[in-house]
Amino acid sequence: MPVDTAVQTYHNLINGEWVPSAGGATFESCNPARSSEVVGRFQASVEADARAAVEAAQQAFAGWRRPAPSRRAEILLQAADLLEAGLEQYAQELTAEEGKTLASSRMEVKRSAQTLRYYATEGLNVSGDTLPSDDPTVFVYTKREPLGVISVITPWNFPISIPARKIAPALATGNTVVFKPASDTPLIALRLVEALHKAGLPAGVLNFVTGSAADTAGPLLTHPAVRAVTFTGSTRAGEQIHRTVGLSTRVQLELGGKNPLLVLEDADLDHAAELAVKGGFELTGQACTGTSRVIIMDEVHDAFVAKLTEKTKALRIGDGLAPGTEIGPLANARQLETVLSYLDIGQQEGAQLVSGGRQLTDGEYGQGYYVEPAVFTGVKREMRIAREEIFGPVIAVIRVKCFKDAVRAANEVDYGLSAAICTADPDRMSYFIDHMEAGVVKVNRPTTGNSMNAPFGGMKMSSTATYRESGRAALEFYLQEKTVYHGSQPIRFCCSN
Ligand code: NAP
Repeated sequence: MPVDTAVQTYHNLINGEWVPSAGGATFESCNPARSSEVVGRFQASVEADARAAVEAAQQAFAGWRRPAPSRRAEILLQAADLLEAGLEQYAQELTAEEGKTLASSRMEVKRSAQTLRYYATEGLNVSGDTLPSDDPTVFVYTKREPLGVISVITPWNFPISIPARKIAPALATGNTVVFKPASDTPLIALRLVEALHKAGLPAGVLNFVTGSAADTAGPLLTHPAVRAVTFTGSTRAGEQIHRTVGLSTRVQLELGGKNPLLVLEDADLDHAAELAVKGGFELTGQACTGTSRVIIMDEVHDAFVAKLTEKTKALRIGDGLAPGTEIGPLANARQLETVLSYLDIGQQEGAQLVSGGRQLTDGEYGQGYYVEPAVFTGVKREMRIAREEIFGPVIAVIRVKCFKDAVRAANEVDYGLSAAICTADPDRMSYFIDHMEAGVVKVNRPTTGNSMNAPFGGMKMSSTATYRESGRAALEFYLQEKTVYHGSQPIRFCCSN
C-alpha cells in the first residue's frame, strides 16, 4: 500500500537525538473509533535500537546522578508546565489514539503533569538514617543511591499517566531511563518524552524506543547495564518478564485484576449501581482496577440488577471526541475480539446476559471497535467470566447468601488488585478491610481511581509483592541503600594539656 505522506512520522529518542530505527521500518497508530484513520507513524524498532538506547542511558548515568537534586526537580517542573500548556492538543491526541472520552483524556494529561510536580518535590526529600554506634569513634549512617539504567514498559490504557508515574520518580532519584510504550499509543507517550526533553534533560538520560515487545524487549530486560525493569501490563507478559530478568535486576510488575464490588443488603442501591457503572464501564471497562464482579446479597439482588441495567442502558456510546460520549470504543481489534469471546463464553457457561453485550456496527459504529456494556447475572463462582480478567465492559453479578461468603467469593480468584464494598455497617466495613486480599480496598467508593500520593499495587497475581507505585513509596524501587561506617584516625595531640 502507498505510504500516506500527510501522516507525520515520529522517531525514537536515543542519546538526545530523534532518530529512525536501525531497521528502517515503521508502523501506524490508528484511531479505534475509526480504524482507517492513522494518528501517526512510528519506528518499528529492533533490538539494535533498544541496545543503543540502553547504552546511551548507561553513559548518561554518571552525569545525571551527580547534579543537585534541585536541578533535576527544575526539569520535571518545567516539563509539567509544558504538558499543561499543550493539554488540549494532547488530550485530543490521547482520545484519537486510545478511544477514551476527551474528559478522561484531559484528566489524564493533567494528572501526568501533577505527577511530575509531585516527584520533583519528593526527589528533594530522599534521606538516610544515622544509627547509634557502640564504638564512639565510628559514625554509622545509611545513604540512598540511584540504581542506574531503568527499563520502563507500559500499556495503552493509561498511556501517559502510567509512564509519568514510573519515569518521574526514576529521574527524580538520579536514574536514567529507557522507555518503551505500548504500540497502540506511542504518540501520547512521545508527548511526555518530548516535554521532558524540551525541559532540558541531558542527552541519554531519557531514551524512547517504539515498536513491538517481540522486537525490542530483549535488551530492555537482559542487557547487563539494566538495573531495574518496571512493567505494567498483562499478567501473562509479566510472568514472562519475571522468568527472563536476571537475579541482579530489580523487577516491578503491575498486572491484571478481577476486582469485586460487594453490595450488602443495607447499601443504598442507587449509589451501589452508580459505583458499579463507574467502576465497570468508565474507560470502556479497560482499567486494571475496573469492577468486573459485583457480589450481591440475595435479598437485594433483583432490585440492584434492575437499577444496574437501567443505568447501563442509558450510557451514551460513541467516539470519545464527540460531546456527550460516556463510553468510547475498545482500544483495538484484539480487545474487541477478546471481549466478544468472553460474551460468548459467559452465555455458553449458562450465565444470563441481561443487558448489552452486542457489537455495534451500524453507521459510524461500523468503523470502530464498539461493544455495548454488558451485565451477566446467574454467574457461578467457578465460571471463567467470574475468574478471568476480561478487561472490557462486562460485569458478572454473583449472588451470595451471607456477608462472610461474599468476602470469601471476593477472594476466590488469582488476582488481588482492588476491591470495594457498599454498606453503612462499620463492623462489616472493618471485616472487609481486614480480610480482603487486595492491595487497594475501598469503602463506598468505586474500585477504580487512586490518589497520586498514595501507594498503589496489588496482591497475589496482580503485582510483584515487593515494591509499590505512586506516592512516596514509589521512590523505594528506584533507590538502593548503602550503609556507611565512618571511622576516624586516632587523634594525636601535639601536647598533653
Ligand atoms: P500487555 O500486552 O502485557 O502489554 C503491555 C506492554 O508490555 C506493551 O508495551 C507491550 O508491548 C509490552 N509487552 C507485551 N509482552 C511483553 C513481553 N513478553 N515482554 C516485555 N514486554 C511485553 O498489556 P496491555 O494489553 O497493553 O494492557 C492491558 C493489561 O495491563 C491488563 O491486564 C491490565 O489489567 C494491565 N494493567 C495493569 C495496571 C496495574 O497498575 N496493575 C494498570 C494498567 C493496565 P507491545 O507494544 O508489543 O504491545
